[in-house]
Amino acid sequence: MSKPDNDVLQRFLFEQSDVRGEIVSLQDSYQAVLTNHRQSGQGIPAAIDTLLGEFLSAAALLSATLKFDGIITLQAKPKNEGALKLIMADCTRHNNLRAVARYEASKAPSDEQGCDFRSLLDGGYLVITIDPAKGKRYQSVIAIEHDSLSACLNTYFQQSEQLPTRIWLAADEHRAAGLLLQALPIQLQSLEQRSELWQHLSLLADTLKADEQVALSHQQQLHRLFHQEELQLFEPTALQFSCSCSRSRTANMLISLGEKEIQAIFEEQTSIDVGCEFCHYVYQFSAEQAARLFIDEPPTLH
Ligand SMILES: [Zn+2]
Repeated sequence: MSKPDNDVLQRFLFEQSDVRGEIVSLQDSYQAVLTNHRQSGQGIPAAIDTLLGEFLSAAALLSATLKFDGIITLQAKPKNEGALKLIMADCTRHNNLRAVARYEASKAPSDEQGCDFRSLLDGGYLVITIDPAKGKRYQSVIAIEHDSLSACLNTYFQQSEQLPTRIWLAADEHRAAGLLLQALPIQLQSLEQRSELWQHLSLLADTLKADEQVALSHQQQLHRLFHQEELQLFEPTALQFSCSCSRSRTANMLISLGEKEIQAIFEEQTSIDVGCEFCHYVYQFSAEQAARLFIDEPPTLH
């Protein structure tokens, strides 16, 4: 048996048809996220880990559907006063992935059952944000009314006026994986032919089991599902954990708090330390450095 793929995204096309797919497998990038996540607290249930894995896989697959440079963010905002406060993942067009979950162990449910997707997030919202490098940011909000992230996303694809799209996600404590099928605008097939093929391929993909997704190579998964189809698998693209935080972004966040607020903080302490939730890097600002943020840029001399 060949080894599973690691930290790669691959596109595939069904020959002579208007349907394509993306397949992803994550290991090191996922483990980097889990290592950071565990630094943020003790007693985090395994269900949050695997949910982070599914969010990462989904962000990677969705980023592959972007036609321009930018970042796609997938964020769940739970509604109730439960233990999970926030979970999100983002992926850039250059395949830099990151994810974070905010979890209050003191509010953890006493039984395992309270840790499934539905119990953690029921009544909350899923927000998909597309932030192009150039142009306006675009956001979709989806009510969480299903038992899994993939079911929520599939409902979203169905309701939005996009091309028919479906997603299958899986994660265990070691690896995360995902599969996406998307119908393309009619070019090679008639609408009827494409719908027929779409139904057929979706039904086949529904037979893929989560443990197969995390354990099998891309070749094996695609062979297992679609061996009767003519399929072209493209070269893999590498994905990596990388945080997009920076000192200037952190400075902008401080500026948005306002000068008064910042001055008030310095009455109590000598520096402001802002830690990144994703990578735990700490940006430190002295009173002098913070004060300089509120002075207008001097005019450039020519
Ligand atoms: Zn960071």
